[in-house]
This record gives sequence, C-alpha cells and structure tokens, in this order.
Amino acid sequence: MGIVIYWDYRSVDGIQLPVQRIISAAIGYPVELILGDHFPVEGYHRIRRQYDGGRILNRISLFKRMHGLNDLLLLVIPDDIYADSSDFVFGLARESIGSAVVSTARLRNEFYGLPEDIHQIIERTAKEGAHELGHLMGLQHCLKPECIMYRPESLSELDRKERYFCPDCRSQLPLMR
Ligand SMILES: [Zn+2]
Ligand SMILES: [Zn+2]
Repeated sequence: MGIVIYWDYRSVDGIQLPVQRIISAAIGYPVELILGDHFPVEGYHRIRRQYDGGRILNRISLFKRMHGLNDLLLLVIPDDIYADSSDFVFGLARESIGSAVVSTARLRNEFYGLPEDIHQIIERTAKEGAHELGHLMGLQHCLKPECIMYRPESLSELDRKERYFCPDCRSQLPLMR
C-alpha cells in the first residue's frame, strides 16, 4: 500500500512539490503526487456555498475503485467544505476507506482579506495533509498543541503546530510497506 496526493489543478499552484516533500518527511514514507484534473467533487450546499466533506470522501472512494487504487488517497481541493456539526473543516479523513481531503480555501490569507504568503500556505497545507494522512494510518487526535495530530480550532492554532508528529504519535505510525 502506498500514499497518493491527488492535487486538483484548481488548488493553489506552485506549492505541490514542497507540500509533498514536507508530508513525506513528517510521516517518514514516500508520497506520490498526482497533478490531477478538476476532481468531480459532490455535495454542494447552495445556501452554505460549501461542499459536504462526507460526500467528497464517498466520491474519493468511488474514484479509487474505478481506478483500482488501493493506496491511501489525500485529495487537495480549493473548495470550502463542512462536515456534520462543524461550520467548516480544513480537512477530513475516513480511515475505513483510506480517503482524506484537504481544502485550501481557509488556509489562504486571501480568505481573511490578508496578503498572500506562499510560505504560510505551504506550511498549512502540508500540516493539514499530514494530519489527515495520520488519521488514515490509525492515529487519533493528540493533546500536544505542537503535534501534527492536534486538532486546530483556528488558523492560529494550525500555525502554532510543528511539521512533525510528537514522539508518542510517531511511535504509533505503522511501518508502511
Ligand atoms: Zn483530525
Ligand atoms: Zn502527538
């Protein structure tokens, strides 16, 4: 089993390689990058103007079956997403189907009316991606604010996290093969 990042071409461009590199370093395993098309996201909510993250995970699962992919798949999209009781989520994962999604919508300074910062968007996308992949590898949330598996409630909490799993979480990462 491998790990694949599927980068919807509408997502932030020019940061794919550094994000791939940081995620791979964090989880200690090579990660394949697919520079993808417009991924057929489903579950648009007209009033919220957001997509239902659960529906997107279902669609990823279907995509994997259609392409005979057994890898863990992390989809990166620019569309804002929500899930269950949360008004928004930076990302979402479902371990049972090996599928996860990260939205760059709220990771961009632009969303908050602030000037774009390429360094910040790389860090945020990589941390969020590694977090969701951590869930796909069986990890739960961690209480240490600096750990990748900490659940950030805000962008500043995400920024406060390090690029790495704490020793406890790292020891729980399976040896991928
Ligand atoms: Zn989480
Ligand atoms: Zn941890």
